[in-house]
Amino acid sequence: MYRFRLFAARHSRSFERLYAVLETSMVALHPLFRRIGYGRVEKVVAPVEKLTKSLLFDCRMCGQCVLSSTGMSCPMNCPKTLRNGPCGGVRPGGYCEVKPEMRCVWVEAWNGAARMKGRDKIGTVLPPVDNTLKGSSAWLRASREKAETRNEATGDARRTTIARAFPGARRSEPTAAPLASEPASARDPRR
Ligand code: SF4
Repeated sequence: MYRFRLFAARHSRSFERLYAVLETSMVALHPLFRRIGYGRVEKVVAPVEKLTKSLLFDCRMCGQCVLSSTGMSCPMNCPKTLRNGPCGGVRPGGYCEVKPEMRCVWVEAWNGAARMKGRDKIGTVLPPVDNTLKGSSAWLRASREKAETRNEATGDARRTTIARAFPGARRSEPTAAPLASEPASARDPRR
């Protein structure tokens, strides 16, 4: 809904906070989601996401949500679906060239981003839309990626601890050494 869309961009900081809480909760639920199976969880989460975000942001379920980088103004509502800034046709007053009754989503994005903690993200060049992800849950994908990256980092830290604890084993059997990126002190126990 257009009015809600404008409201969301104008209250982007509140939505940024809300999303941070949602993402933290979903990252915490990662072990449970893995047990259930992400495919099954997707069937529940995707419709909820679609309903909520359609109402608030006129979401098109592209599957690669960039609202956190675009001031809570969804770029898929641009008639040209531009994901990296406005075209050259923004009308005076910040209106769209194609739909003159609509505010340019990138003007709203710029203003929305200025209110957010992550305001600098708007300067990051976004990749083109991957249409194979259309209809899937971006919430689930983002939280899963975060949880798995975190787990990998924890795994690396554990392997480094093991490497430190067994320097003798490393010297006598280097091919069995963990593959983690390790600090110099882990490689040389005298340091
Ligand atoms: S960027 Fe994609 S997922 Fe995010 S609100 Fe827009 S269409 Fe929906």
